[in-house]
Amino acid sequence: MQDFILFGMQGSGKGTQGQILAAKLNLQVFETGGQLRKLAAEDSDLGKKVKGIIESGNLVSDEVVMEIVENFLKKTPATEGVIFDGIPRSESQYLMLEGEFEKFNRKPTALYIKLTEEEALKRLLGRKTCSKCGKIFGSKDNIAAATSCPVCGGELKIRADDTEEAIRTRLDVYAAQTLPVIEKYRAAGRLIEVDGSQPVEDVTTEILSQVEA
Ligand SMILES: [Zn+2]
Repeated sequence: MQDFILFGMQGSGKGTQGQILAAKLNLQVFETGGQLRKLAAEDSDLGKKVKGIIESGNLVSDEVVMEIVENFLKKTPATEGVIFDGIPRSESQYLMLEGEFEKFNRKPTALYIKLTEEEALKRLLGRKTCSKCGKIFGSKDNIAAATSCPVCGGELKIRADDTEEAIRTRLDVYAAQTLPVIEKYRAAGRLIEVDGSQPVEDVTTEILSQVEA
């Protein structure tokens, strides 16, 4: 089975594509946040360790993230494909992660959903979240003037970290830390690039046709 690593800046629709591809290609999703929450609820040594870190309010180190990856890969036979979402974010994580992949004889293909910073900014600035059901609406949902959720009627709010300055900072961090990693996969001939400014279905179609090619 083929493995993939998803890359794309915030606003690129990376998470959505991950879910769609997982369903279409029958892949498991490794998403760091989700794995942390799952482990923290588990009565295992690694679970207790993760729970302790989260409860103390500390950031999970690269070393612990790799322990989690290793724990996950040990339980995942090579016949089951995986889509990695959210790692590697930096060159140091890239080096450690490739070490794990080698250990388990896996060689994921990187999928890069490209978007310009301006397009990402436009999308992220247009976002509103429902304070009741938690659904996130984008600019395409025509909620610019709306104050209540079209689904449940709850109050729509703009996230505190969705100011232009905060978004630009996050996009800059991505450009500085993650783009060099994407270049590594390009240099290794393990990169598929798609245009993320297209509608969701078209991005999926382009990914699938490139994966099959
Ligand atoms: Zn709602």
